[in-house]
Amino acid sequence: MAGTQRAMVLHAPGQPLRMETRPIPEPGPEQVLLKVHACAVCRTDLHVVDGELTRPKLPLVPGHEIVATVVGTGARVEGFAPGKRVGVPWLGWSCGQCRFCRSGRENLCDTARFTGYDLDGGFAEYTVADARFCFPLPAACRDVEAAPLMCAGLIGFRALRMAGEGQRLGLYGFGAAAHILIQVARHQGRRVYAFTREGDAKGQAFARELGAQWAGGSDTPPPEPLDAAILFAPVGALVPAALRAVDKGGVVVCGGIHMSDIPSFPYSVLWEERQVRSVANLTRQDAMDFLALAPRVPVRTEVQAFPLSAANEALQALREGRVRGAAVLDMTAVG
Ligand SMILES: [Zn+2]
Ligand SMILES: [Zn+2]
Repeated sequence: MAGTQRAMVLHAPGQPLRMETRPIPEPGPEQVLLKVHACAVCRTDLHVVDGELTRPKLPLVPGHEIVATVVGTGARVEGFAPGKRVGVPWLGWSCGQCRFCRSGRENLCDTARFTGYDLDGGFAEYTVADARFCFPLPAACRDVEAAPLMCAGLIGFRALRMAGEGQRLGLYGFGAAAHILIQVARHQGRRVYAFTREGDAKGQAFARELGAQWAGGSDTPPPEPLDAAILFAPVGALVPAALRAVDKGGVVVCGGIHMSDIPSFPYSVLWEERQVRSVANLTRQDAMDFLALAPRVPVRTEVQAFPLSAANEALQALREGRVRGAAVLDMTAVG
C-alpha cells in the first residue's frame, strides 16, 4: 500500500516526540500491515522517552498498546483477512528456539523484540506487526477502551497470577494497570487495598469507586495484613513498605520495567517466607487468557483520549500523575 502517514517519532531520549510524515511501511512475509485506531500510553513509554530504558532503536515510533485493523498481509500470513480488528502488545517477536521460548517463557526470550522499543509501534496512523503477536479483541470494547487492555491489562494480569491466590491484595500506584486489575480481582472475590501517592484524594476516591475495600497513602499501613501486593508505581522505597504490609508467606510483585533503587531494609522484613519478585513482559498465552477473561468480568476501562499530535501532552499528563485511568491516543480525533 503506497502513500504516506503521520507518526510521532523519538529521535533522542529526553527530547519531545516530533510529528513526521513517513511512508506507510511494507509488511514483511510474516507481518500484517495495520491501520491504527488507538494506542494507549504506558509508563514504559515514559521510561523510553525519558531515557531510563537505554537501548531503544532510534529514530523510534513508540507505543505498544495498539488497536488496529488489518489492511495488508505478508506472503506467509494466514488467517488475517483485511478488516479484522486486532490488538498488538509489548512483546512483538520471540525466537521460538532459545531455552526460555522452549519452556513456555517467551517473555524472557534471549532475543525478544519489543513493540515501540526495538520495533516501531503505534503512535502512528499505520504500523506493521508480526501476525503471531496480533490478538483478536473483545467485540464489545470500543477502540480507545480496548487499547489499555494490551499492556496495563495483560501485564497486570500476569502480575496478578504471580501474586498467588490470596484474598487480600494490595495495589501500589492506582493508574492504568491497577484500575483494570481491581476489576479482575473483585471478580475473583478478592479484597483490594489501594495505595496512592500521599494526599492523592482523587486517586483514592477513584479506587473506592471501583470497589477498593480501603484506599490510602503508600506510607499508611493497611487495616489488615495483605496476602500479596503488586507495585505499579516505579518507586523502590515501596518494596520494603509493601513487605511490611504483607503477612507471613506474602508476596510482593514488582510490575514495572524500571524502578528507582530499593533502599536497604532489615532481614526481619523479608523473614517468614515473604517473597519479592518482578514480572517481565508477557507471553502470548497471557494475552489469550486475559483477552478471554476481560469480557466475562467485564472489564471497563476509563480513558482520557488525546489526538495523535498531542502525544507529548499525554506523556506529560502521565508523568505528572494527572490521568484518571489510562491515557490513549485516538487516531480518529482531529489534531
Ligand atoms: Zn506497557
Ligand atoms: Zn527465544
